[in-house]
Amino acid sequence: MTKKIAILPGDGIGIEIIAEAVKLLEHLKSNGLEIELSEAPVGGAGYDAAGKPLPDETLALVKNSDAILLGAVGGPQYEKLPRELRPERGLLGLRSELELFANLRPAILYPQLAAASSLKAEVVAGLDIMIVRELTGGIYFGEPRGIRTLENGEREGFNTLVYRESEVDRISRVAFDIAMKRGKRLCSVDKANVLEVSELWRERVEFVGKDYPEVELSHMYVDNAAMQLVKWPKQFDVMVTKNMFGDILSDAAAMLTGSIGMLPSASLDANSKGMYEPIHGSAPDIAGKGIANPLATLLSVAMLLRYSLDHAAEADAIDAAVGRVLDKGLRTADIMAAGCKQVGTVAMGEAVLTEL
Ligand code: NAD
Repeated sequence: MTKKIAILPGDGIGIEIIAEAVKLLEHLKSNGLEIELSEAPVGGAGYDAAGKPLPDETLALVKNSDAILLGAVGGPQYEKLPRELRPERGLLGLRSELELFANLRPAILYPQLAAASSLKAEVVAGLDIMIVRELTGGIYFGEPRGIRTLENGEREGFNTLVYRESEVDRISRVAFDIAMKRGKRLCSVDKANVLEVSELWRERVEFVGKDYPEVELSHMYVDNAAMQLVKWPKQFDVMVTKNMFGDILSDAAAMLTGSIGMLPSASLDANSKGMYEPIHGSAPDIAGKGIANPLATLLSVAMLLRYSLDHAAEADAIDAAVGRVLDKGLRTADIMAAGCKQVGTVAMGEAVLTEL
């Protein structure tokens, strides 16, 4: 059956990098992949077109799609708008409207780019971790929350860390499913030595794990996980954790690779419908110059094929094509190194297409 993909370029370099991703998808389509692409504005472009960052037509389109490919949103011209009209609100609206509770953040370091990392090359070369972060629960959403004044006049801030069994079960299932498609090792990160929420989390992850006897499950306290990520990150395959721990660990893991222009991400709902996007923003400083790195977006297409369309072979082919382009020494400005050839956005996109 034909799968519907919503294409949301957004703002700034989003437009340039998505153009390369569309060429890739059109190529796969002409080779038999049954997909239908529809484009719509979001973010600043949504505000310009319809007066709000998530126009009604865009929302209707994404709700009726199997997967969404997003560029990036934001730009200095929108910074003075009231908060609810700012481009970033479009993103938050998409996440909540679509109930995208599972955030997948891979930290992949192609061996050819090991010199870009701040860690020693042998520690990170070939790194390939997937962090699965719970995205719609935990302390960022828990009630009660606020700032109150105590009897002695001192103010106190408070938030609530809360997870239901069903919330832990569904994120665990996503993580186990992903582990099955990768190295079959899952590390659940918690703070069960201190937090009751984590005790329950650990118990439910173990429970769900009974359905995945092939996956080797381990548990690690979050402080140790942070340490291990910078000490020997290659020990990890898939990690699953709560919203706040995942927020912090996934940024740390991303930076192990040293290059923001290389990292894709996905946010999934309970039926593997997902939104796929590079982790970087709209980069207004380089927008329109034709020098943005499109690889994070092309790798987001690979994730879309793998996780929402179940086309692992095509996903592997894109990942491998990116590897071969790097082997040939082609680099955009952000990952440029001595002895390599610098190319722009379009040339990099076309090089990947040629390799594919
Ligand atoms: P940014 O990620 O856009 O840029 C940070 C730096 O990395 C810049 O120097 C930029 O030139 C560079 N960079 C980013 N992507 C690159 C690429 N593909 N190739 C080469 N270089 C790249 O972050 P920022 O500057 O803090 O934010 C700019 C705008 O993007 C803001 O409006 C912000 O709100 C928005 N933003 C959007 C998202 C999103 O859409 N998911 C995420 C982060 C920031």
